[in-house]
Amino acid sequence: MSSVFDDLVGQEHIIDILKGAVAASRTGSDSQEMTHAWVFTGPPGSGRSSAAVAFAQALICPNQGCGACNECQSAATGGHPDVEVIRTEGLSIKVEEIRELLTRVAWAPSMGGWRVVVMEDADRLTESAANALLKAIEEPGTRTIWLLCAPTLHDVLPTIRSRCRHLQLRTPSIEAVTQVLIKRDNISPSMADFATRISQGHIGRAKYFATKESVRSNRKVIMQLPLQLGSLAAAFQAAQTLVDIAITEANTSTDERDEKEVEKLQEAYGKGATGRGMATGAAKAVKELEKEQKSRSTRVVRDSIDGALLDLATFYRDVMLVQSGITESVINPDMRPEIESYANNSPSRSTINKINAIMEARENLALNSAPLVTCEALMCKLAKP
Ligand SMILES: [Zn+2]
Repeated sequence: MSSVFDDLVGQEHIIDILKGAVAASRTGSDSQEMTHAWVFTGPPGSGRSSAAVAFAQALICPNQGCGACNECQSAATGGHPDVEVIRTEGLSIKVEEIRELLTRVAWAPSMGGWRVVVMEDADRLTESAANALLKAIEEPGTRTIWLLCAPTLHDVLPTIRSRCRHLQLRTPSIEAVTQVLIKRDNISPSMADFATRISQGHIGRAKYFATKESVRSNRKVIMQLPLQLGSLAAAFQAAQTLVDIAITEANTSTDERDEKEVEKLQEAYGKGATGRGMATGAAKAVKELEKEQKSRSTRVVRDSIDGALLDLATFYRDVMLVQSGITESVINPDMRPEIESYANNSPSRSTINKINAIMEARENLALNSAPLVTCEALMCKLAKP
C-alpha cells in the first residue's frame, strides 16, 4: 500500500519514528502522550518540509497517511481546516504574523483529531516572534502539533529547540534521487543522472534542471565563467553576467505569480469600482501587496544568485578532484576537457582558495551584502592565477 512517506527519499531512519508517532497518537486518547513540538532539520534538498507535511497528513488521515483520501490530499494542498503550512515569503517571520497565527489555531480541531501547523522556515523567526510561539508550544493539553523546519538545530532559538523533538534528515544518495526522477517524474535515465549530479542530490533542483531547458542553458553560461576571467575587465563582466542571469531566472518565477495576486486582490475589491472609499481601499491594499512582493522578489533573487554560486563552486570542486588524481565522481562530466586543462594550468593550492572565496561570497550575500558588488569582488579573486 502506498503512503505519504514514499516520497521521502533516503530518510528511512526517520520514517519509522514518524509512523510510530502516528500509530501512538491513535491509541492514547490522552493528548499528553503525544509530542506536541517537533523540529525537522536537514541540508537544502533533503526534503525537511516534505517530511513535515507528510507527517501532518498522516496525523489527520483516517488510514495513517494513505495519500489518497480527501484528508491527505486537502492537507497537502492547503485546503484542510486542521492543517496549516506556513511558507515565508519575506526575510523574516514577525511577531504580528505569529500572533495572527495563534488566534487562528486557538480553537479545537474541526475533525476532532489534531490540528497541525507546519512552519517551513522556523530559522526566520524574529526573537519576539519566537517568544510568542514558545508560549503556545508550552501550553499543556492542547490538540495542536507544531512541526518546525530549519537547516540546522543551530538556526532555531535554544528556548524553542529545547522543547522540541529533533529529527535530522540526510542528503539522499545520487542513486536514490535519480531513481525517483525516473520513476515518479518520467524523466529519461541519462537526463535524471545528469540533473541529479549537477544539483548534488537536491531533489527539487534536480527536477527543475531536468524539466527546464532554459535553466540548463543558463547554467551552461555560468559554468563557462571561470574560463573567461583573463583580465580585470573580464572579471567585472562575468559578475554582471552572473547577476543578470540570476535576476532573469528569479523574475520568470515570480512575475506570473505577482500579477495573479494583484488581479485577485483587485477583483476582491471590485475592479473598476468608482466609489471613492472602494478605490482608496483597493489602492492601499495593492500597495501593501506590492511591498510584500518586492520583499519576496529580493529573497528569490538572492536564492537564485546563491544557486549560481553553488554551480560555480562545482567547477572548482571538479578541478580540485582532478588535481588530486580522483576522476570518477566528477560533477560536470560534460566539461571534462575544460576542467582537465584548467587543472593542469593552475596550482592546486589556489583552487581551494577559490572555493573558499565562493563560500565567503555566499555568506556575505546571506548577510544582505549588495549582490553585484559581492560578485565583482568574488570574480576578481577567481581571476587570480
Ligand atoms: Zn489518507
